[in-house]
Amino acid sequence: MNIKQKSWLDVKSNSDFPIQNLPYGVVQLPTKEVLVATRIGDVVINLAKLYDLGYFKSIQELESNVFDSSTLNSFMSQGRAVWSKVRKVLTDLFDENNETLRDNDANRTQALFNISEVSNLMPVEVGDYTDFYSSIEHATNVGIMFRGKENALMPNWKHLPVGYHGRSSSIVVSGTNIHRPKGQMKPAHQDLPVFGASKLMDFELEMAFITGGQTQLGDTILVDNAEDYIFGMVLFNDLSARDIQAWEYVPLGPFLGKSFGSVVSPWIVTLDALDYFRTQSPQQDPEVLPYLQSSGERSFDINLEVILQPENGVENLICESNHKYLYWNISQQLAHQSVNGCNINVGDMYASGTISGPKENNYGSMLELSWRGSKPIQLSDGTDRKFISDNDTIIMKGHCEKNGLRIGFGESVCKILPAKQ
Ligand code: CA
Repeated sequence: MNIKQKSWLDVKSNSDFPIQNLPYGVVQLPTKEVLVATRIGDVVINLAKLYDLGYFKSIQELESNVFDSSTLNSFMSQGRAVWSKVRKVLTDLFDENNETLRDNDANRTQALFNISEVSNLMPVEVGDYTDFYSSIEHATNVGIMFRGKENALMPNWKHLPVGYHGRSSSIVVSGTNIHRPKGQMKPAHQDLPVFGASKLMDFELEMAFITGGQTQLGDTILVDNAEDYIFGMVLFNDLSARDIQAWEYVPLGPFLGKSFGSVVSPWIVTLDALDYFRTQSPQQDPEVLPYLQSSGERSFDINLEVILQPENGVENLICESNHKYLYWNISQQLAHQSVNGCNINVGDMYASGTISGPKENNYGSMLELSWRGSKPIQLSDGTDRKFISDNDTIIMKGHCEKNGLRIGFGESVCKILPAKQ
C-alpha cells in the first residue's frame, strides 16, 4: 500500500475513506436500483456500472457482473485473488494521475454519487452468526460482578476463544432502530419471574469479521491460513438485555436477551486495507494448544468509540477502546470455530465479544461503565444513565491512524425505541 497516494476524488483529512480504504457496501440509488459499491471520501462508486462500462475487463475470473447484486456474497465467493485484483483496478483507476475515468464526464456521471444521494443497505446476507467473548478485560469485569474476584475467569477461558451461536435474522445495518425487548426477568428480591419490557438495556462494543470463503464438513482451517477466508470487518453493536440474559443464560448461554437486534456499520473494510495497521496480539499465558498458536502480527490497531446521544440532546463520548486489546485474535477465533469440522460459509459473521480495555473509560458496555448500575454515568445534559433509556441513540465509530494515514469504518448508529405493545 502506498500511504502517500492521493485520489482525484476529494478526501477530507479526517475522512475514514481515503483511496487506501476502498470498503465494500450495498447501496440503493435514487432510482431505487440496488447494487454493490465502494466509496472514496463522500463519493459512492457504483461498481456494477463500472463493470458494465468495461473497467474490470482485465480480470478474467469475473465472468459476470457480481456487483449487480443486493448483497456482497457473490463477489466474496470469488476468493482472495479476485478481491485483490479488484482492489488493484480501483487503486489505479482513482489515482490522482489516472485520467481514464477522471476525464470522462459521461461515465463519471453514471458511476459516481454523493453519499447523501444513496442509502446503505445490509451489505451481506448473513448465514451463520457466532458471538465470541474474547476480551479478557470484559470477561474479567463481568466475572467479578457475577461470581466474585476469585472466580472471575472460568477455567476454560484462557485455553479457548469462548463463543456461542447467535441469531442472524436480526443483524441489521446502521440506521435501523430497535425496540426495547420484552421477556422474562427475575427480580433479585422475588422467587418467581415476571414478564415485561427489559429495564436493563445495554450495548456491546464489538467488531465482526465476515468469511468470504467456504469449507466442507470435516475440514479444519489452520490458524495461519485463517485470513485467506476472511473478507473484512465491520463495527458491531450487540444489543443486550441484561435482565433477560441473567435469568435465561444458565446452562446453555445467551438466547433472547441477545437475539432481538445487532447493528453493523454499512461498509466492510477489507483485511487488505487494514494490513498497514497490524500489531502484535497480547501475550497469552498459559501457552495455548498448537492449533491456536498464531504467528506474525494477527491483531489490528483500531481505535473504537461509543457515543450516547439522548433524544434531542448532544453527543456524549462514553467509551474509548481498541480492537488490539482482544486476547484472542480473529485468526484464532476462526481456527477454533472450524477445528471440529464444522463447515464455514460465505457471508458468515463472527463478532468479537465486547471489547473492553484496561482503564475504566475503555469499558465497552453500560454494564461495566456503570458497574452493574452502582456508578451512574453523568451526561452533559445533567441526566445520568445506568443503562440505555428509550430514545437514546448509540453511535459506534472506529478508525486506524498511522503516519498520517487514516482508514475507518464510519459508524454504527441505532436508536432504542420503546417496547412495542
Ligand atoms: Ca456479545
